[in-house]
Amino acid sequence: MSPVLPPRVIAFDGDDTLWHNETLFSMTQERFRAILRSHLSLDLADLDARLLATERKNLAVYGYGIKGFVLSMVETAIEVTDGRTPASDITAILSVGRAMLEHPVELIEGAREVLESLRARDHELWLITKGDLFDQESKIARSGLEPLFDRIEIVSEKDEGTYRRLLDRHGISADEFAMVGNTLRSDVLPVINLGARAFHVPYQITWAHEHVEGDLPDGALVLDALTELPVRLQAMGLSRSVRHDQP
Ligand SMILES: [Mg+2]
Repeated sequence: MSPVLPPRVIAFDGDDTLWHNETLFSMTQERFRAILRSHLSLDLADLDARLLATERKNLAVYGYGIKGFVLSMVETAIEVTDGRTPASDITAILSVGRAMLEHPVELIEGAREVLESLRARDHELWLITKGDLFDQESKIARSGLEPLFDRIEIVSEKDEGTYRRLLDRHGISADEFAMVGNTLRSDVLPVINLGARAFHVPYQITWAHEHVEGDLPDGALVLDALTELPVRLQAMGLSRSVRHDQP
């Protein structure tokens, strides 16, 4: 049965929920293709598939983030050229990777206003983001959103065990917790499995690794835009006051 009270603690994903991220990866992948295609004849779909396979294989070793992505691009370049990649290509790949790390953080429309309005309503706000610690810390600082959060957690994976540990550590029950994020795999499914609520705010692009097929599970709500969140939460709050007012 769904809980009736509105969630007190609202946790947000960072990448592609509060700030743009996947567009930067797509843009860089375009540049990677261009670097290799300048002197190699390659099928683009095949090159993309090889890169994705390398990234997936390396996740367990490098974790999520830009630095792992750069190493995977270098490894893929070496593989598709049978070890004949010129050093100038490696330099170009390192350079596009560095540009990613230094790219300005662009907030999703309305992100700051949404956080401010929820704080004003006494929600406790968390940020739960996964990936490279240094890169995530830098992005959070550059986003300017850091002061709006009561708690910031940078984790290496966002699965059921991670969410369970975070809730237990801070003494939060599942029915007072809701997660807001763009990926079903990391932000929605594990949270719903714990009995908490989740708001899915799809982004324009989803990394193939994060893509899952299927319907939204019970307890999850889909939003067309992050800016819908305050109204949807308010609707939960109103239903609570109606219940309490009943004789
Ligand atoms: Mg995300």
